[in-house]
Amino acid sequence: MLRRQAQRESAARTYARSLPIVPVRARGLTIEGADGRRYLDCLSGAGTLALGHNHPVVLEAIRGVLDSGAPLHVLDLATPVKDAFTTELFASLPAELAADARIQFCGPAGTDAVEAALTLVRTATGRSGMLAFTGAYHGMTAGALAVSGGATDAGGTTDVRVTRLPYPQDRRCPFGVGGAEGAELSARWTRNLLDDPKSGVPAPAGMILEPVQGEGGVHAAPDAWLRSMREITAERGIPLIADEVQTGVGRTGAFWGVDHAGVVPDVMVLSKAIGGSLPLAVIVYRAELDQWAPGAHAGTFRGNQLAMAAGTATLAYVRENGLAERARTLGAHMLAALRGLIPSHPCVADVRGRGLMIGVELADPDTGEASPDLAVAVRQACLDRGLIVELGGRHASVVRLLPPLTLTDEQASAVLDRLADALSAATRR
Ligand code: PMP
Repeated sequence: MLRRQAQRESAARTYARSLPIVPVRARGLTIEGADGRRYLDCLSGAGTLALGHNHPVVLEAIRGVLDSGAPLHVLDLATPVKDAFTTELFASLPAELAADARIQFCGPAGTDAVEAALTLVRTATGRSGMLAFTGAYHGMTAGALAVSGGATDAGGTTDVRVTRLPYPQDRRCPFGVGGAEGAELSARWTRNLLDDPKSGVPAPAGMILEPVQGEGGVHAAPDAWLRSMREITAERGIPLIADEVQTGVGRTGAFWGVDHAGVVPDVMVLSKAIGGSLPLAVIVYRAELDQWAPGAHAGTFRGNQLAMAAGTATLAYVRENGLAERARTLGAHMLAALRGLIPSHPCVADVRGRGLMIGVELADPDTGEASPDLAVAVRQACLDRGLIVELGGRHASVVRLLPPLTLTDEQASAVLDRLADALSAATRR
């Protein structure tokens, strides 16, 4: 199968290259390959599987719809399944937003919802410029790619309407200071650019940001900086779009990434975990922005009933079982354990994250240069030890962990042991 895949599938295929696995069964953290090998999956469908693979409540919800005789394809019509999903989702939102929110069901991928968010704020403000951040990742469709830091990768062109702002980061801080001071300088830069009549930056239709940059290398925005972005945008009538595609549903140790800072955005972009492992993407936003015309953002597949049922079950399970809190405490424990590896592993340049969104940055111990080759070797050594991890970051030198929020203490220890062993083995090699 792997040989046939390599012959038939696109040169653009991604995970399939580094993970030569043919999954045939999966449950929770574990995937079983056709060869009988078992793996601990810390990629979780690129952060989608909040409850791990095939969680009983998700399976039960899907079976419930299948057995009920309900239609599976309904475009964007109302159904009891959709009504229940919207009710559960609204109950989880920041109260101030939920009080008068609207929801648009988008095409099934995160990038579709990003496009919808851009169209929404451009329509509502009558402006077209967007403020976006270095290192951002918002998707692969034209608009979403334009607001991502990799806009010019793979022959892409930059959208002249996008103004790039510095996202705060401790390592390689563009201001050379990092920490709270670096974040404050980033906020100051943003304020200055917007208020300088000769900055050359057109009045923007919105600002889009991730509360924690995932693909960008696991950089968590400091709470104070996020509050500054909220203040700056609110004072200037600029809608703030929080892309919570990856950070949502408990992943970072709060139900939504913005909750840490107590920030209420004008638009939230949601996908991945909200579909309980099936494709689903929505935006929720303040009612006053709801000025677009019927069909302004359309799509055939906006009514996936199985995804809505699986999503409702997932959202409810995370809420009822306090899994955001669990992600916070277990994540802190894992971060501490990983930081403990630094003295004995000089190639580990940094360990960072929030909740169960964790990154281990690898660098050449002599030069301090990012080391993508070593990261590839570590990913392979992990796989050899039955552990699935992904790479990310500006230089693809950050080993990323996105385990399910249902991870037990024992499983966390097993993940950490295998990763530590893989780091040692890859460094020796
Ligand atoms: N936004 C963020 C923050 C993401 O992490 C991703 C996917 N990794 C997307 C948008 C795009 O989602 P999709 O791949 O479903 O289009």
